[in-house]
Amino acid sequence: EEEQRSLKKTDDYLYQLDLENALRYSMNNEISQTKSIDGEKMEALRKYLAVLAAYFPLRRSNTYLEVIRDVVKSRTTMTGEEFSQLAKTTEEEMSPVYSGLPHQWMGCKGSANSYRGYPCGLWTMFHMLTVNFALEPNKVPQADFSQDPAAVLRAMHGYIGTFFGCADCAAHFVEIAGKNRIFDARSRDEAVLWLWRAHNEVNARLSGDATEDPEHKKIQYPAAEHCPACRYVNGSWNEEEVLQYLRTKYSYNSIKYDGIS
Ligand code: FAD
Repeated sequence: EEEQRSLKKTDDYLYQLDLENALRYSMNNEISQTKSIDGEKMEALRKYLAVLAAYFPLRRSNTYLEVIRDVVKSRTTMTGEEFSQLAKTTEEEMSPVYSGLPHQWMGCKGSANSYRGYPCGLWTMFHMLTVNFALEPNKVPQADFSQDPAAVLRAMHGYIGTFFGCADCAAHFVEIAGKNRIFDARSRDEAVLWLWRAHNEVNARLSGDATEDPEHKKIQYPAAEHCPACRYVNGSWNEEEVLQYLRTKYSYNSIKYDGIS
């Protein structure tokens, strides 16, 4: 039993509950913190919603995100408060949109409440979006962004830079994005790897930081135990193997429904 528990602790799975918790917090609580959404902020919100409506795997309502996307598309300006009202009303009208318990995290559960949770969920959600955008290029062929391999990264860059509550994090991310040329990704697979690399850069910066959960250390991901083939013997990355690993871990097919009734 002891052995089983230690195996469980090191599993690297993707959970529907984490994806939905992250989405709900973003829609209902985070975007609303922006007083006035117009101009570039409105553009960022539109791109984010377009990608979510096309690629977020909501189980219970496939139109919830489309309704919100279309209302926002018809507006040139709105307050953050109006947006969260729209999100909440739409959620109620389409009930049930989300599954499971509201405040429980699975893969993103910290050893204490101050650790992990939403920021972990947001990373997870964006990795999942880049991967499924690459795996299913024809899912929504008429989407305005379907010709842009960097579409998910563009949506993430706009979202983090405009709405992410941790201002320092947002500034760092935008800096990494500029330095590593986020919009140069020439294929959807390159975009998957771009985000993996950027996330590892953040992990390296935060390794040993006070915000690090002592039971979930920041590593250069993926761990060797999960993907032995991802590193060459000299320790450098085998990016083809990393890509395979990411395409498996973050694909719709791998989503686990633990914690959902
Ligand atoms: P996280 O880093 O949140 O990762 C979540 C999960 O993603 C991991 O459990 C793992 O399964 C997977 N994962 C990890 N690395 C990779 C990878 N390279 N590729 C694919 N999957 C991976 N906090 C700060 O204190 N300062 C900052 O500047 C900062 N910047 C941030 C920028 C962004 C855009 C975001 C979303 C968050 C940022 N944070 C920052 C928060 C921080 O990165 C972590 O999210 C938080 O500390 C929780 O860490 P975690 O251990 O749950 O794992």
